[in-house]
Amino acid sequence: MPQNYSSISTNYPNKTIKIISIATILFSLTACNTSEINPQLKTNSQALKVATPNNQIQQKSQESAKVENLTFTVPAKYQAKTIYKAEPSKTEKVIALTIDDGPWPKTTLEMLDILKQNDVKATFFWVGSSLQENPEIAKRVVAEGHAIGNHTWHHWYRKMDEATAKSEIERTNDLIYKTTGVKTSFFRPPGGYLNNGLAAYAKSQKNSVVMWSVTSADTDPRAKYQVFVKNVLRDAKPGAIVLMHDGGGNRYRTVKALPEIINGLKQQGYRFVTVPELLEMP
Ligand SMILES: [Zn+2]
Repeated sequence: MPQNYSSISTNYPNKTIKIISIATILFSLTACNTSEINPQLKTNSQALKVATPNNQIQQKSQESAKVENLTFTVPAKYQAKTIYKAEPSKTEKVIALTIDDGPWPKTTLEMLDILKQNDVKATFFWVGSSLQENPEIAKRVVAEGHAIGNHTWHHWYRKMDEATAKSEIERTNDLIYKTTGVKTSFFRPPGGYLNNGLAAYAKSQKNSVVMWSVTSADTDPRAKYQVFVKNVLRDAKPGAIVLMHDGGGNRYRTVKALPEIINGLKQQGYRFVTVPELLEMP
């Protein structure tokens, strides 16, 4: 069910890319119930088993390319920490766009088209209940190389006991993995609330709690889309994490703002990175 969030926005930094060897993947496919694994992975592994040696090498390199970005781990110094932005070296003018509350029909796809046209990778924080409704959209987000974070199952703001907080996060992690093969240690608390039990649980799992340093304020129901653009271009700084939304309500204004935000930041000399990439930078 679509939830109407009149939320504070959320943005968070940086993913670590872990390269998984073919051996690891084959092992995990063997060790797990393969019916629950991303069908694409399963098909690839089956193809590998019957391939001739030459094809095997080819398949192997293709598979490596495919799975390369499926695990988003947090660098040690950011584990169990709350992050608002990164401090890249002064010469690095980088910025991370984060997009919350999807996957969502129509708007997520429109934003993916815009990101692709501009060769920009973003970080999507998914709500488990939205992911359940829109698995095919989620698969496209991952296939196009964007980073993924966890944004809980229900998008609740209220105070929770530990078992509930755990369930909100782990149920979402499980569905992210079953749908896309992604494992993520990046968490963004709904509404940016840090004291309701969710952030504490995420930290207990050594996740990075990803906030934001710049908001488009695209949850403001009255603002024109040009205001979202102005907010971001005014507040952008190297290492910033920018908050915007593709779901949780009608985000057509964010879709309109996105190309202008990207163009404006490019004109200011920014390069776009995902949150995991941002946190990997020296
Ligand atoms: Zn949210």
